Amino acid sequence: MTPPPAAPSSGSSVPDPTPADASLAPGRPRDAVEEIAEILTSARYCIALTGAGISAESGIPTFRGKDGLWTKHGEPPLNQYQQFWNDPAAWWRSVKRRRENPDELSAALREALPNDAHFAMATLEQLGVLRHTITQNVDNLHRLAGLRELTEIHGNSHFLRCIDCNARTPFDEVPEALPPACAACGGLLKTDTVMFGEPIPRDALDECINQTRMCDCMLLVGTSAVVYPAAGFPVDVKMSGGRLIEVNPNETPLTEMSDIVLRAPAGEALPLVMSRIREIAEA
Ligand code: NAD
Ligand code: ZN
Repeated sequence: MTPPPAAPSSGSSVPDPTPADASLAPGRPRDAVEEIAEILTSARYCIALTGAGISAESGIPTFRGKDGLWTKHGEPPLNQYQQFWNDPAAWWRSVKRRRENPDELSAALREALPNDAHFAMATLEQLGVLRHTITQNVDNLHRLAGLRELTEIHGNSHFLRCIDCNARTPFDEVPEALPPACAACGGLLKTDTVMFGEPIPRDALDECINQTRMCDCMLLVGTSAVVYPAAGFPVDVKMSGGRLIEVNPNETPLTEMSDIVLRAPAGEALPLVMSRIREIAEA
């Protein structure tokens, strides 16, 4: 994947985008909603890239940003996958302890429900405007909202994955025998969530690359765009002549190369975009 260029190209961002003033004040970002609706409906193949920000309004904290978990508590160890390999049974016992005594993120991941942004994206897919979504989120909320064409590049915390055959199965309870084995091939099971140090599963990465190649318009929602390889997909779209639309209350490394920026929480912005597109479709 290509890193972001040092000298970004100019975009037609909505002016005066301060986070404190980021909600959709009447009169100001309406033009951006209109322009986004036009870009989305005229695109040949539009896909979305979403990050933790789209689920913030569902009560799941982000990692970075003002109330981010890493901002508050510091970054976790980078050798998580190595720890899993060193002793899979011990790693599984720690998963069991965390389920019995959940931390802030684990508790939120188990209880959260989709918000208006997730539902608006599912409707955009039903309207034929959004062809695929790549999410970095592990929270299952796009699926719960009814989105169907989805690649979860960092996995899904509600599933287990076999490290040999990649088979995914629902994760309801911690299995009795630890570490658990795959029913299909006997391989070692882990949670589907991709850990630090773990390669992105090949099937998910291939799908992301395919979708990015086909895409001429990418909707970026709630991602700080600093985690690779996902952060490279929009850059690839831009370099091949596609258009980028960013929905985020804060500036990101992709802001300057975006064709249009809507500085608002996703739960406010996407329903407006979706309603406008529905109006266009019904006209
Ligand atoms: P991030 O935490 O690095 O950045 C979050 C982004 O969302 C920021 O740019 C912030 O300005 C924006 N944001 C905050 N509130 C928003 C809102 N209401 N609407 C729209 N945007 C909003 O998130 P990231 O870029 O996804 O990267 C972090 C990694 O952490 C990802 O790989 C992801 O797997 C993981 N993560 C996932 C979840 C989840 O599944 N919900 C939660 C935390 C972290
Ligand atoms: Zn298997």
